[in-house]
Amino acid sequence: MGPETPSTASISSPQASSGQDRVCANCKERFTLDPDDFSFYQKIEVPAPRFCPACRNQRRRAWRNDISFYKRQCDLCKKNIVSLYSPDKTLTVYCQKCWWSDAWDPKAYGRDFDFSRPFFEQYRELQNVVPLIALMNDDGIGSINCEYTQNVSSAKNCYMVSSSWKNEECAYDMQISGPELREVFDSLDIFQKCEMVYDSIFLESCYRVRNCYRSFALVDCAFCLECRDCQDCFMCVGLRRKRYCFKNKQYTKEEYEKILAEYRLDTWDGRERARKEFQEFILEYPREFAILRNCVNCTGDQMFNCKNMKYSFNVRGSEDTAYFENGNIIKTGYDMATGGENEECYEGITPDNDYRALFTIFSWKNSHAEYCENCHSGQNLFGCSSLRGAKYCILNKEYTKEDYHELRIRIVEHMKKTGEYGEFFPAKLSHFCYNETTAQMYFPITKEEALAKGYRWQDSFQFTTGKETIKVEALPQTIAEVGDGIMKEVLACTNCKRNYIIVHQELQFYRRMNLPLPRQCFYCRNDERMRLRNPFRLWQRQCDCKGAGSTNGIYANGEPHFHGEKACPNTFQTPYAPERPEIVYCEECYQAEVV
Ligand SMILES: [Zn+2]
Ligand SMILES: [Zn+2]
Ligand SMILES: [Zn+2]
Ligand SMILES: [Zn+2]
Ligand SMILES: [Zn+2]
Repeated sequence: MGPETPSTASISSPQASSGQDRVCANCKERFTLDPDDFSFYQKIEVPAPRFCPACRNQRRRAWRNDISFYKRQCDLCKKNIVSLYSPDKTLTVYCQKCWWSDAWDPKAYGRDFDFSRPFFEQYRELQNVVPLIALMNDDGIGSINCEYTQNVSSAKNCYMVSSSWKNEECAYDMQISGPELREVFDSLDIFQKCEMVYDSIFLESCYRVRNCYRSFALVDCAFCLECRDCQDCFMCVGLRRKRYCFKNKQYTKEEYEKILAEYRLDTWDGRERARKEFQEFILEYPREFAILRNCVNCTGDQMFNCKNMKYSFNVRGSEDTAYFENGNIIKTGYDMATGGENEECYEGITPDNDYRALFTIFSWKNSHAEYCENCHSGQNLFGCSSLRGAKYCILNKEYTKEDYHELRIRIVEHMKKTGEYGEFFPAKLSHFCYNETTAQMYFPITKEEALAKGYRWQDSFQFTTGKETIKVEALPQTIAEVGDGIMKEVLACTNCKRNYIIVHQELQFYRRMNLPLPRQCFYCRNDERMRLRNPFRLWQRQCDCKGAGSTNGIYANGEPHFHGEKACPNTFQTPYAPERPEIVYCEECYQAEVV
């Protein structure tokens, strides 16, 4: 891929060795660097990291704002826009149209590197003045009618969607990636070939489903977990190739339809009853220790068609990569919070179609970009912000090819002396307050803890309360009773009191799917899904199968297992922490039960 490799003459490489114990420079916990880790760092010529994997992830995520949106002005055309950057921040923010236009020149902010000062300080000064893009999406270029989306590309008619691509007619989602993804609402971690999906987590190839989790190839199902190739199933766990099942029991079509009708899933009360019953019911059955479908030599969860992936989550079609979350087609990389179709990338927030993007934030279609933010279709960039189609630039200043390589090597040497090279941008320097970012979703801390660590804290998210024009208690039970007038009303979330509205697109969807109106705002709905989803963390655990059934005595095996009457000796890495109530089975015991 990459058009050329910069000269490496003076870059020293870390010594390869067997596993090495280190102490994290941040949390002081011990962590191990494997020989595989060293070969990767050697390959991309960076020193081994000083932070443990979790602290690296937290530091990256402190730069990643997915859903904290604000109203502010475009600093160029002065139009009112929606942006990731709150208006109180002293940053220059342009709307999509202005940012992608030729009305301004990012290279006009170019500057010399000062060898008497640290790099991050100088880079932060550049970031303070170079215009940022209000929301990072390709609306009007690769996407159509996706103005209110963040980190979205190649999409059509989407609203309030983040970290997603190749999807159409979707709203209120995070991390959904096509192709062939249509009408997915209120969902998380949805992969290709899904249509008409509501309030679900981790699905592939599903049609007309609601409240389904960790399942593939479902049609007309509701409240199902770890089911595959099923149709017309309601409240089931771990079924394969079944139809007309309720609570894992087989019924006739007529019986099934009667049960389903009795639950009144079209009403708010019916939905709530089913939701509560389902949460209790699923604890009676064993779970697969992790979903690694068609994967070889992988640790993590929510993964398919992968090879040699370590500690990675929500990923499809990737190989030789570690500490990766959310995306597909990744080759030989480490440490990314979302990404797609990239190779040899390290420490990135959405490197997309990149080769060798190291320490980057929204690096799309670049090769050899280091310490860059929002640079697109460029080559050989170091410490740059908001460049498009640029080559051989350092701090937004262009050099000849020879001068670029020479200066880059000197800066890297300088940064090794200051302890900066090989580390991502410090969280303290982030554009965002800690609680505006996904760091707060994945590593929640209190305001006091955040301030003590030198992070900033957002006290004034822009939203209103008390402006509701209709009481949620007055909302009809079913969507059939809701008229178009609802789009003119302001509602108040039953949980956080935040005002929210119903947009045309979602009203249409609720009608098509016969769903009651939501009683909570998108933020509370999203929080609830994040709570229901397994964490993107792993624990070493032993199989919960003790011979004839589960260790907690709740589940009895359907048939004898390979380990006979003794407890299963298998151990594994799983996202289910040992203290959790779920019954967690190893691959062999699980497969014996879900025939
Ligand atoms: Zn640490
Ligand atoms: Zn503008
Ligand atoms: Zn709320
Ligand atoms: Zn087992
Ligand atoms: Zn067993």
